[in-house]
Order: sequence, then structure tokens, then C-alpha cells
Amino acid sequence: MTTVGEHRLLIDGKLVDAASGATFDNINPTTEEVLGVTADGTAADMEAAIAAARRAFDTTTWATDPELRKRCLLQLQAALEGEREELRSELVAEVGCPVLITYGPQLDAPLSEALTWPAEMIDTFAWSRDLGTKDPFGIGETQREVWKEAIGVVGVIVPWNFPVEIILNKLGPVLAMGNTCVLKPAPDTPWNATRIGRLIAEQTDIPPGVVNIVVSSDHLVGEVLTTSPLVDMIAFTGSTATGRRIMAAASDTLKPVFLELGGKSINLVLDDADFAATIPGASSVCFHGGQGCAMPTRLMVPRSRYDESVELALAGFAGVSYGDPTDASNLMGPLVSQKQRERVLGYIESGREQGARVACGGGRPAHLDKGWFVEPTLLVDVDNSMKVAQEEIFGPVLVMIPYEDDDDAVRIANDSPYGLSGAITSGDLDHAKAIARRVRTGTLSLNGGIWYGADAPFGGYKQSGIGRQCGIEGLEMFTQTKTVGWPA
Ligand code: NAD
Repeated sequence: MTTVGEHRLLIDGKLVDAASGATFDNINPTTEEVLGVTADGTAADMEAAIAAARRAFDTTTWATDPELRKRCLLQLQAALEGEREELRSELVAEVGCPVLITYGPQLDAPLSEALTWPAEMIDTFAWSRDLGTKDPFGIGETQREVWKEAIGVVGVIVPWNFPVEIILNKLGPVLAMGNTCVLKPAPDTPWNATRIGRLIAEQTDIPPGVVNIVVSSDHLVGEVLTTSPLVDMIAFTGSTATGRRIMAAASDTLKPVFLELGGKSINLVLDDADFAATIPGASSVCFHGGQGCAMPTRLMVPRSRYDESVELALAGFAGVSYGDPTDASNLMGPLVSQKQRERVLGYIESGREQGARVACGGGRPAHLDKGWFVEPTLLVDVDNSMKVAQEEIFGPVLVMIPYEDDDDAVRIANDSPYGLSGAITSGDLDHAKAIARRVRTGTLSLNGGIWYGADAPFGGYKQSGIGRQCGIEGLEMFTQTKTVGWPA
């Protein structure tokens, strides 16, 4: 598999080195070896990118030419398809993602629709709404309309865990709605983004400046985007802590922020569920090292069946194969960085200190001396007030919490600062739906169903975020509303 990545930034239609000439290393989390380098953008590069996006929005026909936008999105889709296998091996190399998962949510699922669905929606989106006539001041009838328009320059800031998926699910709606943008990828996973930049420059008619991509080893280069008066909106996916900081930074220029943040979602097994068929599957939180914001990391089971449930969960954990992410039989690779590994091990330790029992895993695997691995870990006897139940761990760690009855389950489910996703299983779909209506969360899987799709709004309640990505709601996120009237 090839692992030689694009190192240049995309600014104003050109693939360029950082103005300073500096580069930084891209590290393979499985081997801990340097894969290669990427241009290390600074505030100066970010300012050049913002200026280009501003000029492209203000002086080109991008915002007003839907045919051009549709053609460009479909060209980008075709270009990505052409380098699908290179993207796949790059994701495995720089993210440490198991290759198996690239055939689903990490690559193939978003490639199939993240750009094409918004491109097709350009034709059918409700760009205007007829409000009819009215004479509000008694001086004559007025015809009124509501128009939906691009919002302007969007600063797109993304994390490392599902980089292509998140980038495409942002670029699709942002560009379809007529905006220009500056993308700031995470420094841990730069190459998939810079590859997308090269494909935009070389294989699409996307006008110069419409998409700019600035990678940097310095997180604070992102702050140039959030504070710039030339940027109209921020679309961010990442941690809740950074989301708070971004919201505060954006307040000076009063720009809207769209935030996709962390989660601590439930996997609620109701008392009438088929336990043997359901509970072993809860170990799927370990896939991709648990580095998914929507993973249902709080397994909730009736107290009366707790011991039996622990045994079933342990059986599921025994089946989580992990190690080399290029091996298609592995469900879990390493964590993305040493820092993440230390953070996850710290959480496991805090669980022990607060009285949780480590039923399996709990440390670094003895048989893997390279790579930032953590063993698949099941923490039992967990109370929902413990840190491991309240905070997002972002590692292969499942906590098991007992509940007394349905009301207690709903109480525990909602006793969280987060509300991103979750799963509910019952022998009776109506029972699952009744509980689902009471859980404060943005998405839910009922009886194993999958809510995911470019047409399906995704986002959080409470501190899991503001706004929705994908679906009609996700398109509307990137529009402004203009109301006009003229004599009838
Ligand atoms: P992070 O918040 O540390 O970083 C995300 C991005 O923000 C990176 O590009 C980073 O460079 C940038 N950034 C950091 N500080 C910044 C600042 N002050 N101003 C502007 N930009 C800044 O998150 P991460 O560690 O890369 O990703 C993991 C987190 O992302 C987890 O909490 C996870 O739950 C969350 N996540 C959420 C979703 C979702 O859709 N809700 C999806 C994936 C990941």
C-alpha cells in the first residue's frame, strides 16, 4: 500500500508550501515511525487563505451559479473515487484505522453520498418561499418572498478520528449552498485533507479560492479563523472543550458557530430485550479504538440481570480482535497518538480509584511493543456519577451501569452533560420508541437500526453541540435568510 502523501497546502487555487517553508512530521500510530512531512502553515498562511476565500465569495459567481457548483461537486466525487485506494491506505497509515472500517463509515460510506447528495439537492432545495400578499400598514398590498442564500466564508475545523468522513460531510453542504471555505484539518491526520486539496486543484473546476486548506502543527492557527472579521461562520467538529473556546473566540465578530462535539451515549438494554443477542455486541465501542463521538459507551442493563449481563459483555470483548490495522481481520488498531493513549489509561485509572472493577483489559497489550494501543476494556460496577461515566474517554472502554426500572433508566440516560447519540434495544419496538422519546439526544439506534446517511441530520443536544450536519437541516445550516417584498 502506498503511503506517500501530498505535503502542500491549497491556497487560492494553488498547491503551495507554507510561507515559512516549515514542515512537520506525519507519524504512523501503529509503527510510531515518520510517514513523511506536511507543510506547517502559520497564521500568515491562514490569513492568505481567508483572503482568498473572501475574494472568491465576493467577486466570483460561485454563490449564484448552482450549475457550476453541482458540476464541481460531482467532479470532486469522481476525483476521489479515482484515488479511493490511496485514501484508504493513507487513512490506515495516518489514523491507525483498521482497514475493515474504511469499507464502512471511515471511507466508502461517505464517498458514496457525502458530496453527491448535497449536489443533487441543489436542484430541489427550497431556495425561496412565497409568503403571499399582505398590507400590514394599510398602504397597499405587498408581495413577499423568503430567499435562502449562502452565508459567505465558512471556516471548517475538523478532528482526526474520521477525517475524510467529516471533511466530506462538511464540504458537501458548505459548497452546495454556495459558500466558500477554509478547511483546517487536525495535525495528527493531514494527508487525507491535503490529497483532497490536490484533487480539487488538479481535477475540478472549483474556482481558485473557493476551497482553501491550511494544515498546521499549531492548533492556534485555527483561532485565526474563529476571530477573523472576514469569516462569516465556523463549522467545527471536535472536543467539547475546544468547542467552548471556539464559541468564545467567535463572539467578538458575532459569527454563528455550528458545533459537533463529544458524546457519552447510552446503550440501553431494556428488560424485554434478547440479552444474549444484544449484549455481546456492546463491545463494538472498541472498533477503531473507541475513537468515535457517537459510540454508545455507557451500557445500561437492569440491576436484576447485571451479573448475567457482565458475562455476556465479556464474551463480546473476547471477540474483539486488535493489532495491525492493515490486517482486515482486526476491528481495532492503535489510538491516534501517545497523548490519547495516556489520556485513556488515565481514565481507566480514575475508574479504578472511584470503585469500578476492571472486568477485562485495562492497560497496554503486552504482546504489542510498538504502537499506541490500549486493550479493549470493560469497566463494571460503575455508578453514573463516576468520571468514567460522565466524561468522554475516546478509547476502547465500555462502562456498565445498572438501573432499576424504565424511569430510572431514563433518568440515568439523561444524567449527562452530553446528548449526541445512543442505542436502545427492546423486544417490543413501541417500548423502545416510548423510551427514545424521553432520552435527550440527537440520534438513536432502535433495536440495532442505523440512522446514518447524508440525508440524515446528525448533531447533539446539550454540550454535544449546536446545529445539525447532513440532511435538509444540514443544508440550511449554511444559508442566510433574506426576506423581500414588492408592490403586488
Ligand atoms: P480537538 O477539539 O482537540 O481538535 C479538533 C480540531 O480543532 C483540530 O483541527 C484542532 O487543531 C482544532 N483546534 C484546537 N484548538 C483550537 C482553537 N483554539 N481554535 C481553533 N481550532 C482549534 O478534537 P480532537 O482531539 O481532534 O478530536 C476528538 C474530539 O472530537 C472528541 O471529543 C470527539 O468526540 C469529537 N468528535 C465529535 C464528532 C461529532 O460529530 N460530534 C465527530 C468526531 C469527533
